[in-house]
Amino acid sequence: MQKVNLLDLSPAELRAFLAGLGEPPYRADQIQDWLYRRGADSFVQMTNLPQDLRGKLPEVAGIGLLQVLSEQAAQDGTRKLLFALADGNSVETVVLPYEHGFSVCVSTQVGCRWKCGFCASGLQGFVRNLRPAEIMAQVLQVKNNLQSAGMALKSIVLMGTGEPLDNWDGTVAFLRAVRDPKLLAVSLRHVTLSTVGLPERIRALADFCWPVTLAVSLHAAEDALRDRIMPVNRKYPLPVLLAACDYYAEKTGRRITYEYIMLDNINDSQEHARKLSVLLRGRLCHVNLIALNTVRVLDCRPSDEAAVRRFADILVREKINTTVRRRLGSEIAAACGQLRNTFLA
Ligand code: SF4
Repeated sequence: MQKVNLLDLSPAELRAFLAGLGEPPYRADQIQDWLYRRGADSFVQMTNLPQDLRGKLPEVAGIGLLQVLSEQAAQDGTRKLLFALADGNSVETVVLPYEHGFSVCVSTQVGCRWKCGFCASGLQGFVRNLRPAEIMAQVLQVKNNLQSAGMALKSIVLMGTGEPLDNWDGTVAFLRAVRDPKLLAVSLRHVTLSTVGLPERIRALADFCWPVTLAVSLHAAEDALRDRIMPVNRKYPLPVLLAACDYYAEKTGRRITYEYIMLDNINDSQEHARKLSVLLRGRLCHVNLIALNTVRVLDCRPSDEAAVRRFADILVREKINTTVRRRLGSEIAAACGQLRNTFLA
């Protein structure tokens, strides 16, 4: 008999599952409290459950946490984990130390179909969507590790391998579990979802009116260049994408973060900065300039610091809210897909 993964179950589903074992509804609250708040990784630890239930549960259910295949740590405190999935696949998760606390960057798919020009995840192609429980397990494992060291997880970013809006059902179910008071109980204000920019899905997400921060991978302010860097642009050109982003900002009241990876001699000139400021002028937004973590096999290099500074200055002069993201984990190849690719090689 296939065991039930408890992280797959909503509070109502867990109550129904336990009713089938002859248990009262409040046992579901106790178990989910252990899983989502108290960091249990075995049924033995759930000491407020009757002994016979603790003995019975491992025969019919699993806790859903994942085995760590590999781990790397950078000097700046960034950690990268490679988790094994039950079907033999693997996914990467990155733990990032920021001034305001720790953030976990989770994957939503095994591989990715979008083939952005600077990203290692597209190299192996798309394999499959992650189930909501597999996304949640990445968060819980990092949260539990931090908690046992007396530290706290402050935010979640869906920015690892995969396109979250491509895994629509998995991502929406995960977000529901994040905000559920009986499950992770974290406000969606602390969640950032990064997307290549799929307009219909951005509009559908906006219709939930959740306070999720939307981070859109822009990387170019004109279609011809964005077509080259991000093949998704050939399907959804900039006017279509930006109209969906404006709709998102209007429905949710949240400003959009436009991510812009600075690529040497590709998109980092002063002319590019001016075009970007014209494109975004008057929009509720924020630009994040990102230093590329070089991927050995891809033919692009990070811009030098002076080019990044000049670019940022032009945006700021044009009154576009701009930050230059600190480069974290460069010596452990913290860009998405790089640890998994090294492991697969
Ligand atoms: S940047 Fe994101 S969407 Fe683009 S190939 Fe990499 S994982 Fe896929």
